[in-house]
Amino acid sequence: MTRACDLVVVGGGPAGAAAAIAARRAAPELSTVVLDRQKFPRDKACGDGLGPGVVARLADLDASEIVRGRRPVERLKIVAPSGAEVVGDLPAIGTSARGYVVPRSEFDRDLLTHARDVGAEVLTESRLEGLATPAEGPVRVTSSGADGSVSLEARAVIAADGARSDVRRLLGVAYNDSAHTGVAIRAYVERPGGFEHMAFYFKRELLPAYGWVFPIDERGANVGVMIDAGRFRQHGRSLPELLRDFLQSSGYEALQPQRSRAYMLPFASYVPPLEHGRVALIGDAGSMINPFSGEGIAYGMAAGMEAATRAVRALRSRSGGRPFEGYDGWFRQRFGEHFRASARAKRLAQRAWIADFGVRAARRRPEFVREGIELLVGEGTALSWRSLARLLVHGRS
Ligand SMILES: Cc1cc2nc3c(=O)[nH]c(=O)nc-3n(C[C@H](O)[C@H](O)[C@H](O)COP(=O)(O)OP(=O)(O)OC[C@H]3O[C@@H](n4cnc5c(N)ncnc54)[C@H](O)[C@@H]3O)c2cc1C
Repeated sequence: MTRACDLVVVGGGPAGAAAAIAARRAAPELSTVVLDRQKFPRDKACGDGLGPGVVARLADLDASEIVRGRRPVERLKIVAPSGAEVVGDLPAIGTSARGYVVPRSEFDRDLLTHARDVGAEVLTESRLEGLATPAEGPVRVTSSGADGSVSLEARAVIAADGARSDVRRLLGVAYNDSAHTGVAIRAYVERPGGFEHMAFYFKRELLPAYGWVFPIDERGANVGVMIDAGRFRQHGRSLPELLRDFLQSSGYEALQPQRSRAYMLPFASYVPPLEHGRVALIGDAGSMINPFSGEGIAYGMAAGMEAATRAVRALRSRSGGRPFEGYDGWFRQRFGEHFRASARAKRLAQRAWIADFGVRAARRRPEFVREGIELLVGEGTALSWRSLARLLVHGRS
């Protein structure tokens, strides 16, 4: 039997859960259904880094209790290929200048539980299989799973089904090509005394890849390596080998990586059209990952909240066919320049001497540390020609 509902969110990761919570908060009288093919808690390959942008969005969603009691991260270390390092503060977004490192199995479970608590209907182990988008009238969504098949007629659909989005494919929107895609591997490690800072390592022997160490608690950390997909193919080394090289060359050879997991990252150096009539793409389904840092959670949540709020307001006021009108333009206006600046920074950092040069300049001038960290985990737009010229002046040895 087909059921009518107002909003269907496909995918219960952070982007989808944030969208569902925002929809419920803006219009509790409208029905919101979230479908996810997996059973929660579920693992997701990720650095587990929740930057200040995520913390700010949790506050906006009244969901800050999800990170309460966790160990906060307030400083970030950048290590140049030469080994020189700089440490700086995380940027403030909203009222938060801190981040957290929370395993995605826990973070995603808690955010989706929050969506359920505020009234979204959450169907897990339910995989979207069909999507019909007639010129007039509601979108028909079919899914199947543990509890049989589900057929819904939705006035609006938000696709939050990740890097290999089925909705995106069914809409006929091509996935990002390898020039705008990354691959990354993460693992968990432990050692007595733990790890001090959230750290990015730009390593000569790994360039264009870089590695990270993100401390979770008093003992453990998430470690990993990210590399562009095109370059990875030419590299000839597997992701586990690259991770091992990274740990060995960074003084972490004694660590035993556990629970390695790899996946792809659609970079926001190419963002496809996000509005498709009654369907909108958000999060990885809409290629919203910072090409420099690999961060995607904050942008996906922000997009989800905006798309959902626009949709429920439109559904409440009229029955028109474009519930997401203006959302695509909003996203590009809000984050376009930040992503362009991050892509520029990445192109530069892929050359070891430039990465060394940048860190040398940053050791002299704190504003360069701030700008570098903004590009990695903030929402800043550094690396204008003016700031590049300043960097040139101050990076010379
Ligand atoms: C190794 C690695 C490290 C990373 N590190 C970080 C980091 O430290 N910080 C950060 O901010 N970002 C990081 N990212 C990026 C981040 O993981 C993503 O940007 C983020 O998960 C996007 O969230 P999402 O909700 O869009 O998609 P996802 O988290 O991928 O969720 C998509 C959901 O959709 C469901 N789904 C898929 N297909 C269907 C279907 N047909 N029907 C129903 N449900 C479906 C899936 O089960 C899944 O639960 C990393 C990525 C990788 C690969």
